[in-house]
Amino acid sequence: MEKVILVRYEEIFLKRSNRNVFENRLIRNIRQRLESLGNIRVTCSQSRIYIEIPDEDFDLVEAVERLKKVFGIASLSIVHKVPTDYEIIKTSAVSIVADLLSRYHYRTFKVESKRADKSFPLNSPQLSADLGAHILRNFPRLKVDVRNPDFVFYIEVRESTYLYSEIIPAAKGLPTGTGGRATLLLSGGIDSPVAGWMIAKRGVEVDAVYFHSPPYTSERAREKVVRLSEILSEWTMGMRLYVAPFTEIQMAIHQKCPQEYLTIIMRRYMMKIAERIARNNGSLALITGEAIGQVASQTMESLLVTNSAVSLPVYRPLIGMDKNEVVSIARHIGTYDTSILPYEDCCTIFVARHPATRPSLEKTLDYESVLDEEQLIAKALEQMETIIV
Ligand code: ATP
Ligand code: MG
Repeated sequence: MEKVILVRYEEIFLKRSNRNVFENRLIRNIRQRLESLGNIRVTCSQSRIYIEIPDEDFDLVEAVERLKKVFGIASLSIVHKVPTDYEIIKTSAVSIVADLLSRYHYRTFKVESKRADKSFPLNSPQLSADLGAHILRNFPRLKVDVRNPDFVFYIEVRESTYLYSEIIPAAKGLPTGTGGRATLLLSGGIDSPVAGWMIAKRGVEVDAVYFHSPPYTSERAREKVVRLSEILSEWTMGMRLYVAPFTEIQMAIHQKCPQEYLTIIMRRYMMKIAERIARNNGSLALITGEAIGQVASQTMESLLVTNSAVSLPVYRPLIGMDKNEVVSIARHIGTYDTSILPYEDCCTIFVARHPATRPSLEKTLDYESVLDEEQLIAKALEQMETIIV
């Protein structure tokens, strides 16, 4: 019995004209993610992808963990591939069930059959009934329960026959690289990694920029952001992380602009610098982790003022979400534990006691006009560091 990983993707894409682009990219991404684990063979047939495992030493558990983070995969199964010969199928089924029962206290089951090879003598209901009876004869303590079984024994009869008992849900979304590129404003918080992940899920390649203000933000805060982009990278198939120095800009704003407009002008500078980076790396949009009303700088008035700093579209996938919804995604994608590490910005001198919750765009433009924008931005870009994650 040969072990194969069966990869399913949503068939809805098959109706689209770019079906091949989708499949080829997904196969390429799977190969890339599993490359370091061994010599695998990936084939595509009848809207399924099959990954043939080279040998017994192959780390199947790790492979499944990695595949669960490949966008475009709907679900996975580790399947036993046998020749389409009913005697062999029955023997194999018994040995698979024996193995299952040695590991789990299963009492009830049902068989679910799919017959794609119409030359096979039994149709699907007949096959389910007959194979079910065969399993019962071999394991008298098992019972059939078609409504709520402890396990389902799946059989698919194709050119070969595939036997399995588990369907592992995976990342869904679209294959990375089928959607263009966007640049994420990545802080060390909970929200922005989630925002980046949500856009990446749609097949978008994501690069990130972090604004670092030493000595007001510590080296540990920077390391935290690097770690967050490493975690994100497992989903996004790598990313570039730009670390842009922000201290000088913050100092200038702090010295020359009214306190209550400090945050909003800072946010506008972040957007402007991110936009320059985005235009350079071929991004079609910016991404932030903002949600309406979460903090003073995220009221609708503030968002309007922030948004007006740039002309690229700004994607804010968390805009209508509550914090606990964001947290549950952060846990799911693995960024939460890192995000809550207490190396937050210690630059309290740059946080106004009473930030404007309803800033006006007119005033903002007026206040920031005293700053030498071109020079400040050019310098930040010049001193920016690029990390390939
Ligand atoms: P987060 O949890 O993502 O930090 P937040 O709720 O703390 O978000 P803000 O600090 O107001 O909200 O930031 C709003 C958004 O601005 C963030 O989601 C992120 O996209 C961006 N941002 C904030 N600070 C930085 C930074 N130092 N570097 C890069 N982007 C940042
Ligand atoms: Mg934050």
